[in-house]
Amino acid sequence: MAPHQRALLLLPLVFLLLLLGPPHADSWGKEGHIMVCQIAEEYLSEKAAAAVQALLPESAGGELSTMCPWADQARWHYHWSSPLHYVNTPQVCNFKSSRDCHNSRGQQGMCVVGAINNYTDQLYSYGQKTSYNLTESLMFLAHFVGDVHQPLHVGYEEDEGGTTINVRWYRRKETLHHVWDSDIIDTAQKDFYNKSMDIMVEALKMNLTGGWSDDITHWENCKNKHATCANDYAIESIHYACNYAYKDVEQNITLGDDYFFTRYPIVEQRLAQAGIRLALILNRIFDGDNADDIPLQVQ
Ligand SMILES: [Zn+2]
Repeated sequence: MAPHQRALLLLPLVFLLLLLGPPHADSWGKEGHIMVCQIAEEYLSEKAAAAVQALLPESAGGELSTMCPWADQARWHYHWSSPLHYVNTPQVCNFKSSRDCHNSRGQQGMCVVGAINNYTDQLYSYGQKTSYNLTESLMFLAHFVGDVHQPLHVGYEEDEGGTTINVRWYRRKETLHHVWDSDIIDTAQKDFYNKSMDIMVEALKMNLTGGWSDDITHWENCKNKHATCANDYAIESIHYACNYAYKDVEQNITLGDDYFFTRYPIVEQRLAQAGIRLALILNRIFDGDNADDIPLQVQ
């Protein structure tokens, strides 16, 4: 069959995929991931920034943030990677790695927390002979550190992290999951930042040197020397999911100003925390002189 005939046969499939939309638990929308990584880039040590530059593909144009949404496209050809974007709990407001971190076939570690530790571990082989594709390890890690901070990426199994909860976001039909991936960010940009992602990122960065500056040390606090603190970030997320995302929400409810104004500060804080912690993880990996630099182990 000629290549163009094959392409024609594929067309209906492409349309079907477009109709079906993204699969369960997509992740922060594209913009959320870009913002997380733009914040992280600001906090990289010299060595970490150099290693990131060396690992980035040419198409990144020298910016980590351009590659941070990549893992959402990669799931179409790396099907095994889909469960790595999230973790679900059995309708409880706590997270336990041994109970919750597995894929649908029960393979342990196949969740967002396991993935962060695994790709971190792989990146420790930077500069040595390694069989890992460290460019992909970096792009997966940068994406998943973002995802673990989206509260509904650590949500309930029963509603697939809010994916099966239909709501109206103001007048538009959405799922609760999508509200947290994208709609709160979009509305904040429209209401406060002149519809501009760049202005929003600048505002978050300014907050990090202003109102949040006292919190950063606390956010960076990671006593776990054998793995990342992704486990703690997941615990925080399920608490935010219970206390903010799911709170007072039921099927077909309309969410508007009341919900938006009480939840957008959480979204902004989670984006900033994810950026700070991604930088922390990369600095620990690539700063050889750092006293903290003990190779991480997969949990
Ligand atoms: Zn994702």
